[in-house]
Amino acid sequence: HEEEEEEEECAKKKLVIDHSVKVASHYNSLQEVGLAARSRSRIFFMRNFNNWMKSVLIGEILEQVRAGGCRRVSVLDLGCGKGGDLLKWRRGGIDHLVCADIAGVSVEQCQSRYEEMKRKSHINEKIFKAQFITADCTKEVLSEKLEDAELQFDVCSCQFVYHYSFESEQKADMMLRNACERLKPGGFFIGTTPDAFELVKRLEASDSLSFGNEVFKVSFGSKGDYPLFGCQYHFSLEDVVDVPEFLVYFPLLEHMAKNYNMRLVLRQRFSEFFEEKVKKEHHRSLMMKMTALEPFPLEDGDGQTTGSSGEYRHAKEH
Ligand code: SAM
Repeated sequence: HEEEEEEEECAKKKLVIDHSVKVASHYNSLQEVGLAARSRSRIFFMRNFNNWMKSVLIGEILEQVRAGGCRRVSVLDLGCGKGGDLLKWRRGGIDHLVCADIAGVSVEQCQSRYEEMKRKSHINEKIFKAQFITADCTKEVLSEKLEDAELQFDVCSCQFVYHYSFESEQKADMMLRNACERLKPGGFFIGTTPDAFELVKRLEASDSLSFGNEVFKVSFGSKGDYPLFGCQYHFSLEDVVDVPEFLVYFPLLEHMAKNYNMRLVLRQRFSEFFEEKVKKEHHRSLMMKMTALEPFPLEDGDGQTTGSSGEYRHAKEH
């Protein structure tokens, strides 16, 4: 019996290792395609829509941080990928950015994009300082890797990433620790992640273990039982995404965040967020530009998700 248990334990460990490695190697292997190729992709509009959501979320949070009296803004981009949000940080006029991701190749591309951005910028424009870290943020403590050991953040942004950590309580907690421990009091943790309730609703309504359409597919191993951690499903999106992900039970995330003095300020589904923000003229005109048929070189992100996502915003208590 003991031997069996030991074997099971080893198998579990191997599985755990494989997941992180799978996610990292998947994102590492994604080709950098130019804007023109991306505009031809069937998911072009969805990507632009996701990018618009992130632009609005990031733009508004930076306004809020400044309204709170902050003059020099520092940001942690947790799971930065290839740097899809670099232009948003530039437009937001931040002073310092730390980018972290498990996929080393993505981090290198992110850094090259940043160097390119600096090189091409106008002589009078002051581009933010940046540090790039390759790390499994569900296992490693990011604050130990900061060049400026005293650095504190006004904002931590975690876009389409947090769900990878819900494999285990330990991993989800480490990701949360990395997101929140260096936030200034009054600072914000913002993000986007698939809506577990919607995913389960669609699974339960399906007569098989998967659902989707010709563009995306979500497959579960079973249904009826959804553990709080490690509830794995497989997500594929055209030939762009093909990775294991985990359901994030949002009330649990909210509860866990309280351990880091975080209070939930806002949680919205994409549809609700969109309906509210699109009423504002400047958000609407950005949307028109970003979803124009001709690729508009404003945004260049690599965020991918289905329409069943939501965005959230936590604030650190004083
Ligand atoms: N935030 C970027 C964006 O919105 O364009 C990238 C989003 S992409 C869907 C998910 C990213 O999460 C990938 O770059 C992946 O490498 C990263 N990721 C997954 N697990 C991670 C982990 N344990 N630690 C750090 N990054 C992780």
